[in-house]
Amino acid sequence: MRDCKGRFAPTPSGDMHIGNAFCYFLAWLSARSQSGRIVLRFEDCDRLRMQPEAVGQTMSDLEWLGLCWDEGPTPGQTEGPYFQSCRTAIYDRVFEELRARRLVYPCFCSRQDVRLAAAPHPGEDAPVYPGTCRDLSAAEIDVRMKKRAPAWRLRLEDKTVCFCDALLGPQRCEILSERGDFPVRRADGVYCYQFTAALDDALMGVSEVIRSNDLLASTPWQIYLQQLLGYAPPTYLHIPLLLDENGSRLAKREKSLSLRQIRRHYTPEEVIGRLAFLAGLQSAPEPCDLAALAAQFSAERLPREDIVLPPALFSACREA
Ligand code: GLU
Repeated sequence: MRDCKGRFAPTPSGDMHIGNAFCYFLAWLSARSQSGRIVLRFEDCDRLRMQPEAVGQTMSDLEWLGLCWDEGPTPGQTEGPYFQSCRTAIYDRVFEELRARRLVYPCFCSRQDVRLAAAPHPGEDAPVYPGTCRDLSAAEIDVRMKKRAPAWRLRLEDKTVCFCDALLGPQRCEILSERGDFPVRRADGVYCYQFTAALDDALMGVSEVIRSNDLLASTPWQIYLQQLLGYAPPTYLHIPLLLDENGSRLAKREKSLSLRQIRRHYTPEEVIGRLAFLAGLQSAPEPCDLAALAAQFSAERLPREDIVLPPALFSACREA
């Protein structure tokens, strides 16, 4: 069995909200309960969506909560880089390998390139790609290349990807018909989320991925790519989303319950106690200590259904 290594993989596009904190809290607890390490990596390939101050704010929020990491963009770290925007040379190398193996092909279909690289979220899932550019001849490719730069897609085999989610149980996906060839690189040269996340998890030795269930549909693609490149995929655990009282998912762009706001009104122990309560790890939202939670953590106790945040739980932020 390999040593446990978990990860935090924030996209620094705004302030961390309570749903992000919930995810990192569980990733931390799970890794620490197995004496594992944690890597912090910033998913900032799509520079247009990023907010420069979000990196410092995210690290400060994580440290304030006590969710420390072992590897990440901290002075003195020798591995990495831990910003995806600085890993282009690594992505280029793997992309060229896939190209040499004829496993990627240029795609000229018009799509919103920005959407191609984003982690998909409900309502924004890309439709299954119908394979329009899969079998273009070399001559057709030449003609089209002169008009516009293509995106590049991975050519999938028609096979079944199976994995066992540590919370949701066995999962099975007919990868070609249910997901379709996925974009690896956008027309503007930016590498796409599925490619960079799967590759970095493999290269960074991540053995356990804990993230929100809105990314469950991405997992078969990521496992497929890791296997194609000869890596053993990590285990996956997809946690429920935290929803606001209207049943909508929290989003950075809506500034819903950010840690920046919460820190003005609550202590770290109070926030951890509330997160533990939401996760079903304690029966009341009492302040509590991370180390004590890690000592008795078991993923089986986590809820499977999305969780509506009780409005009273962070009432001090609402009243402010
Ligand atoms: N970077 C993504 C986010 O912050 C998470 C991706 C992942 O966990 O694979 O939503």
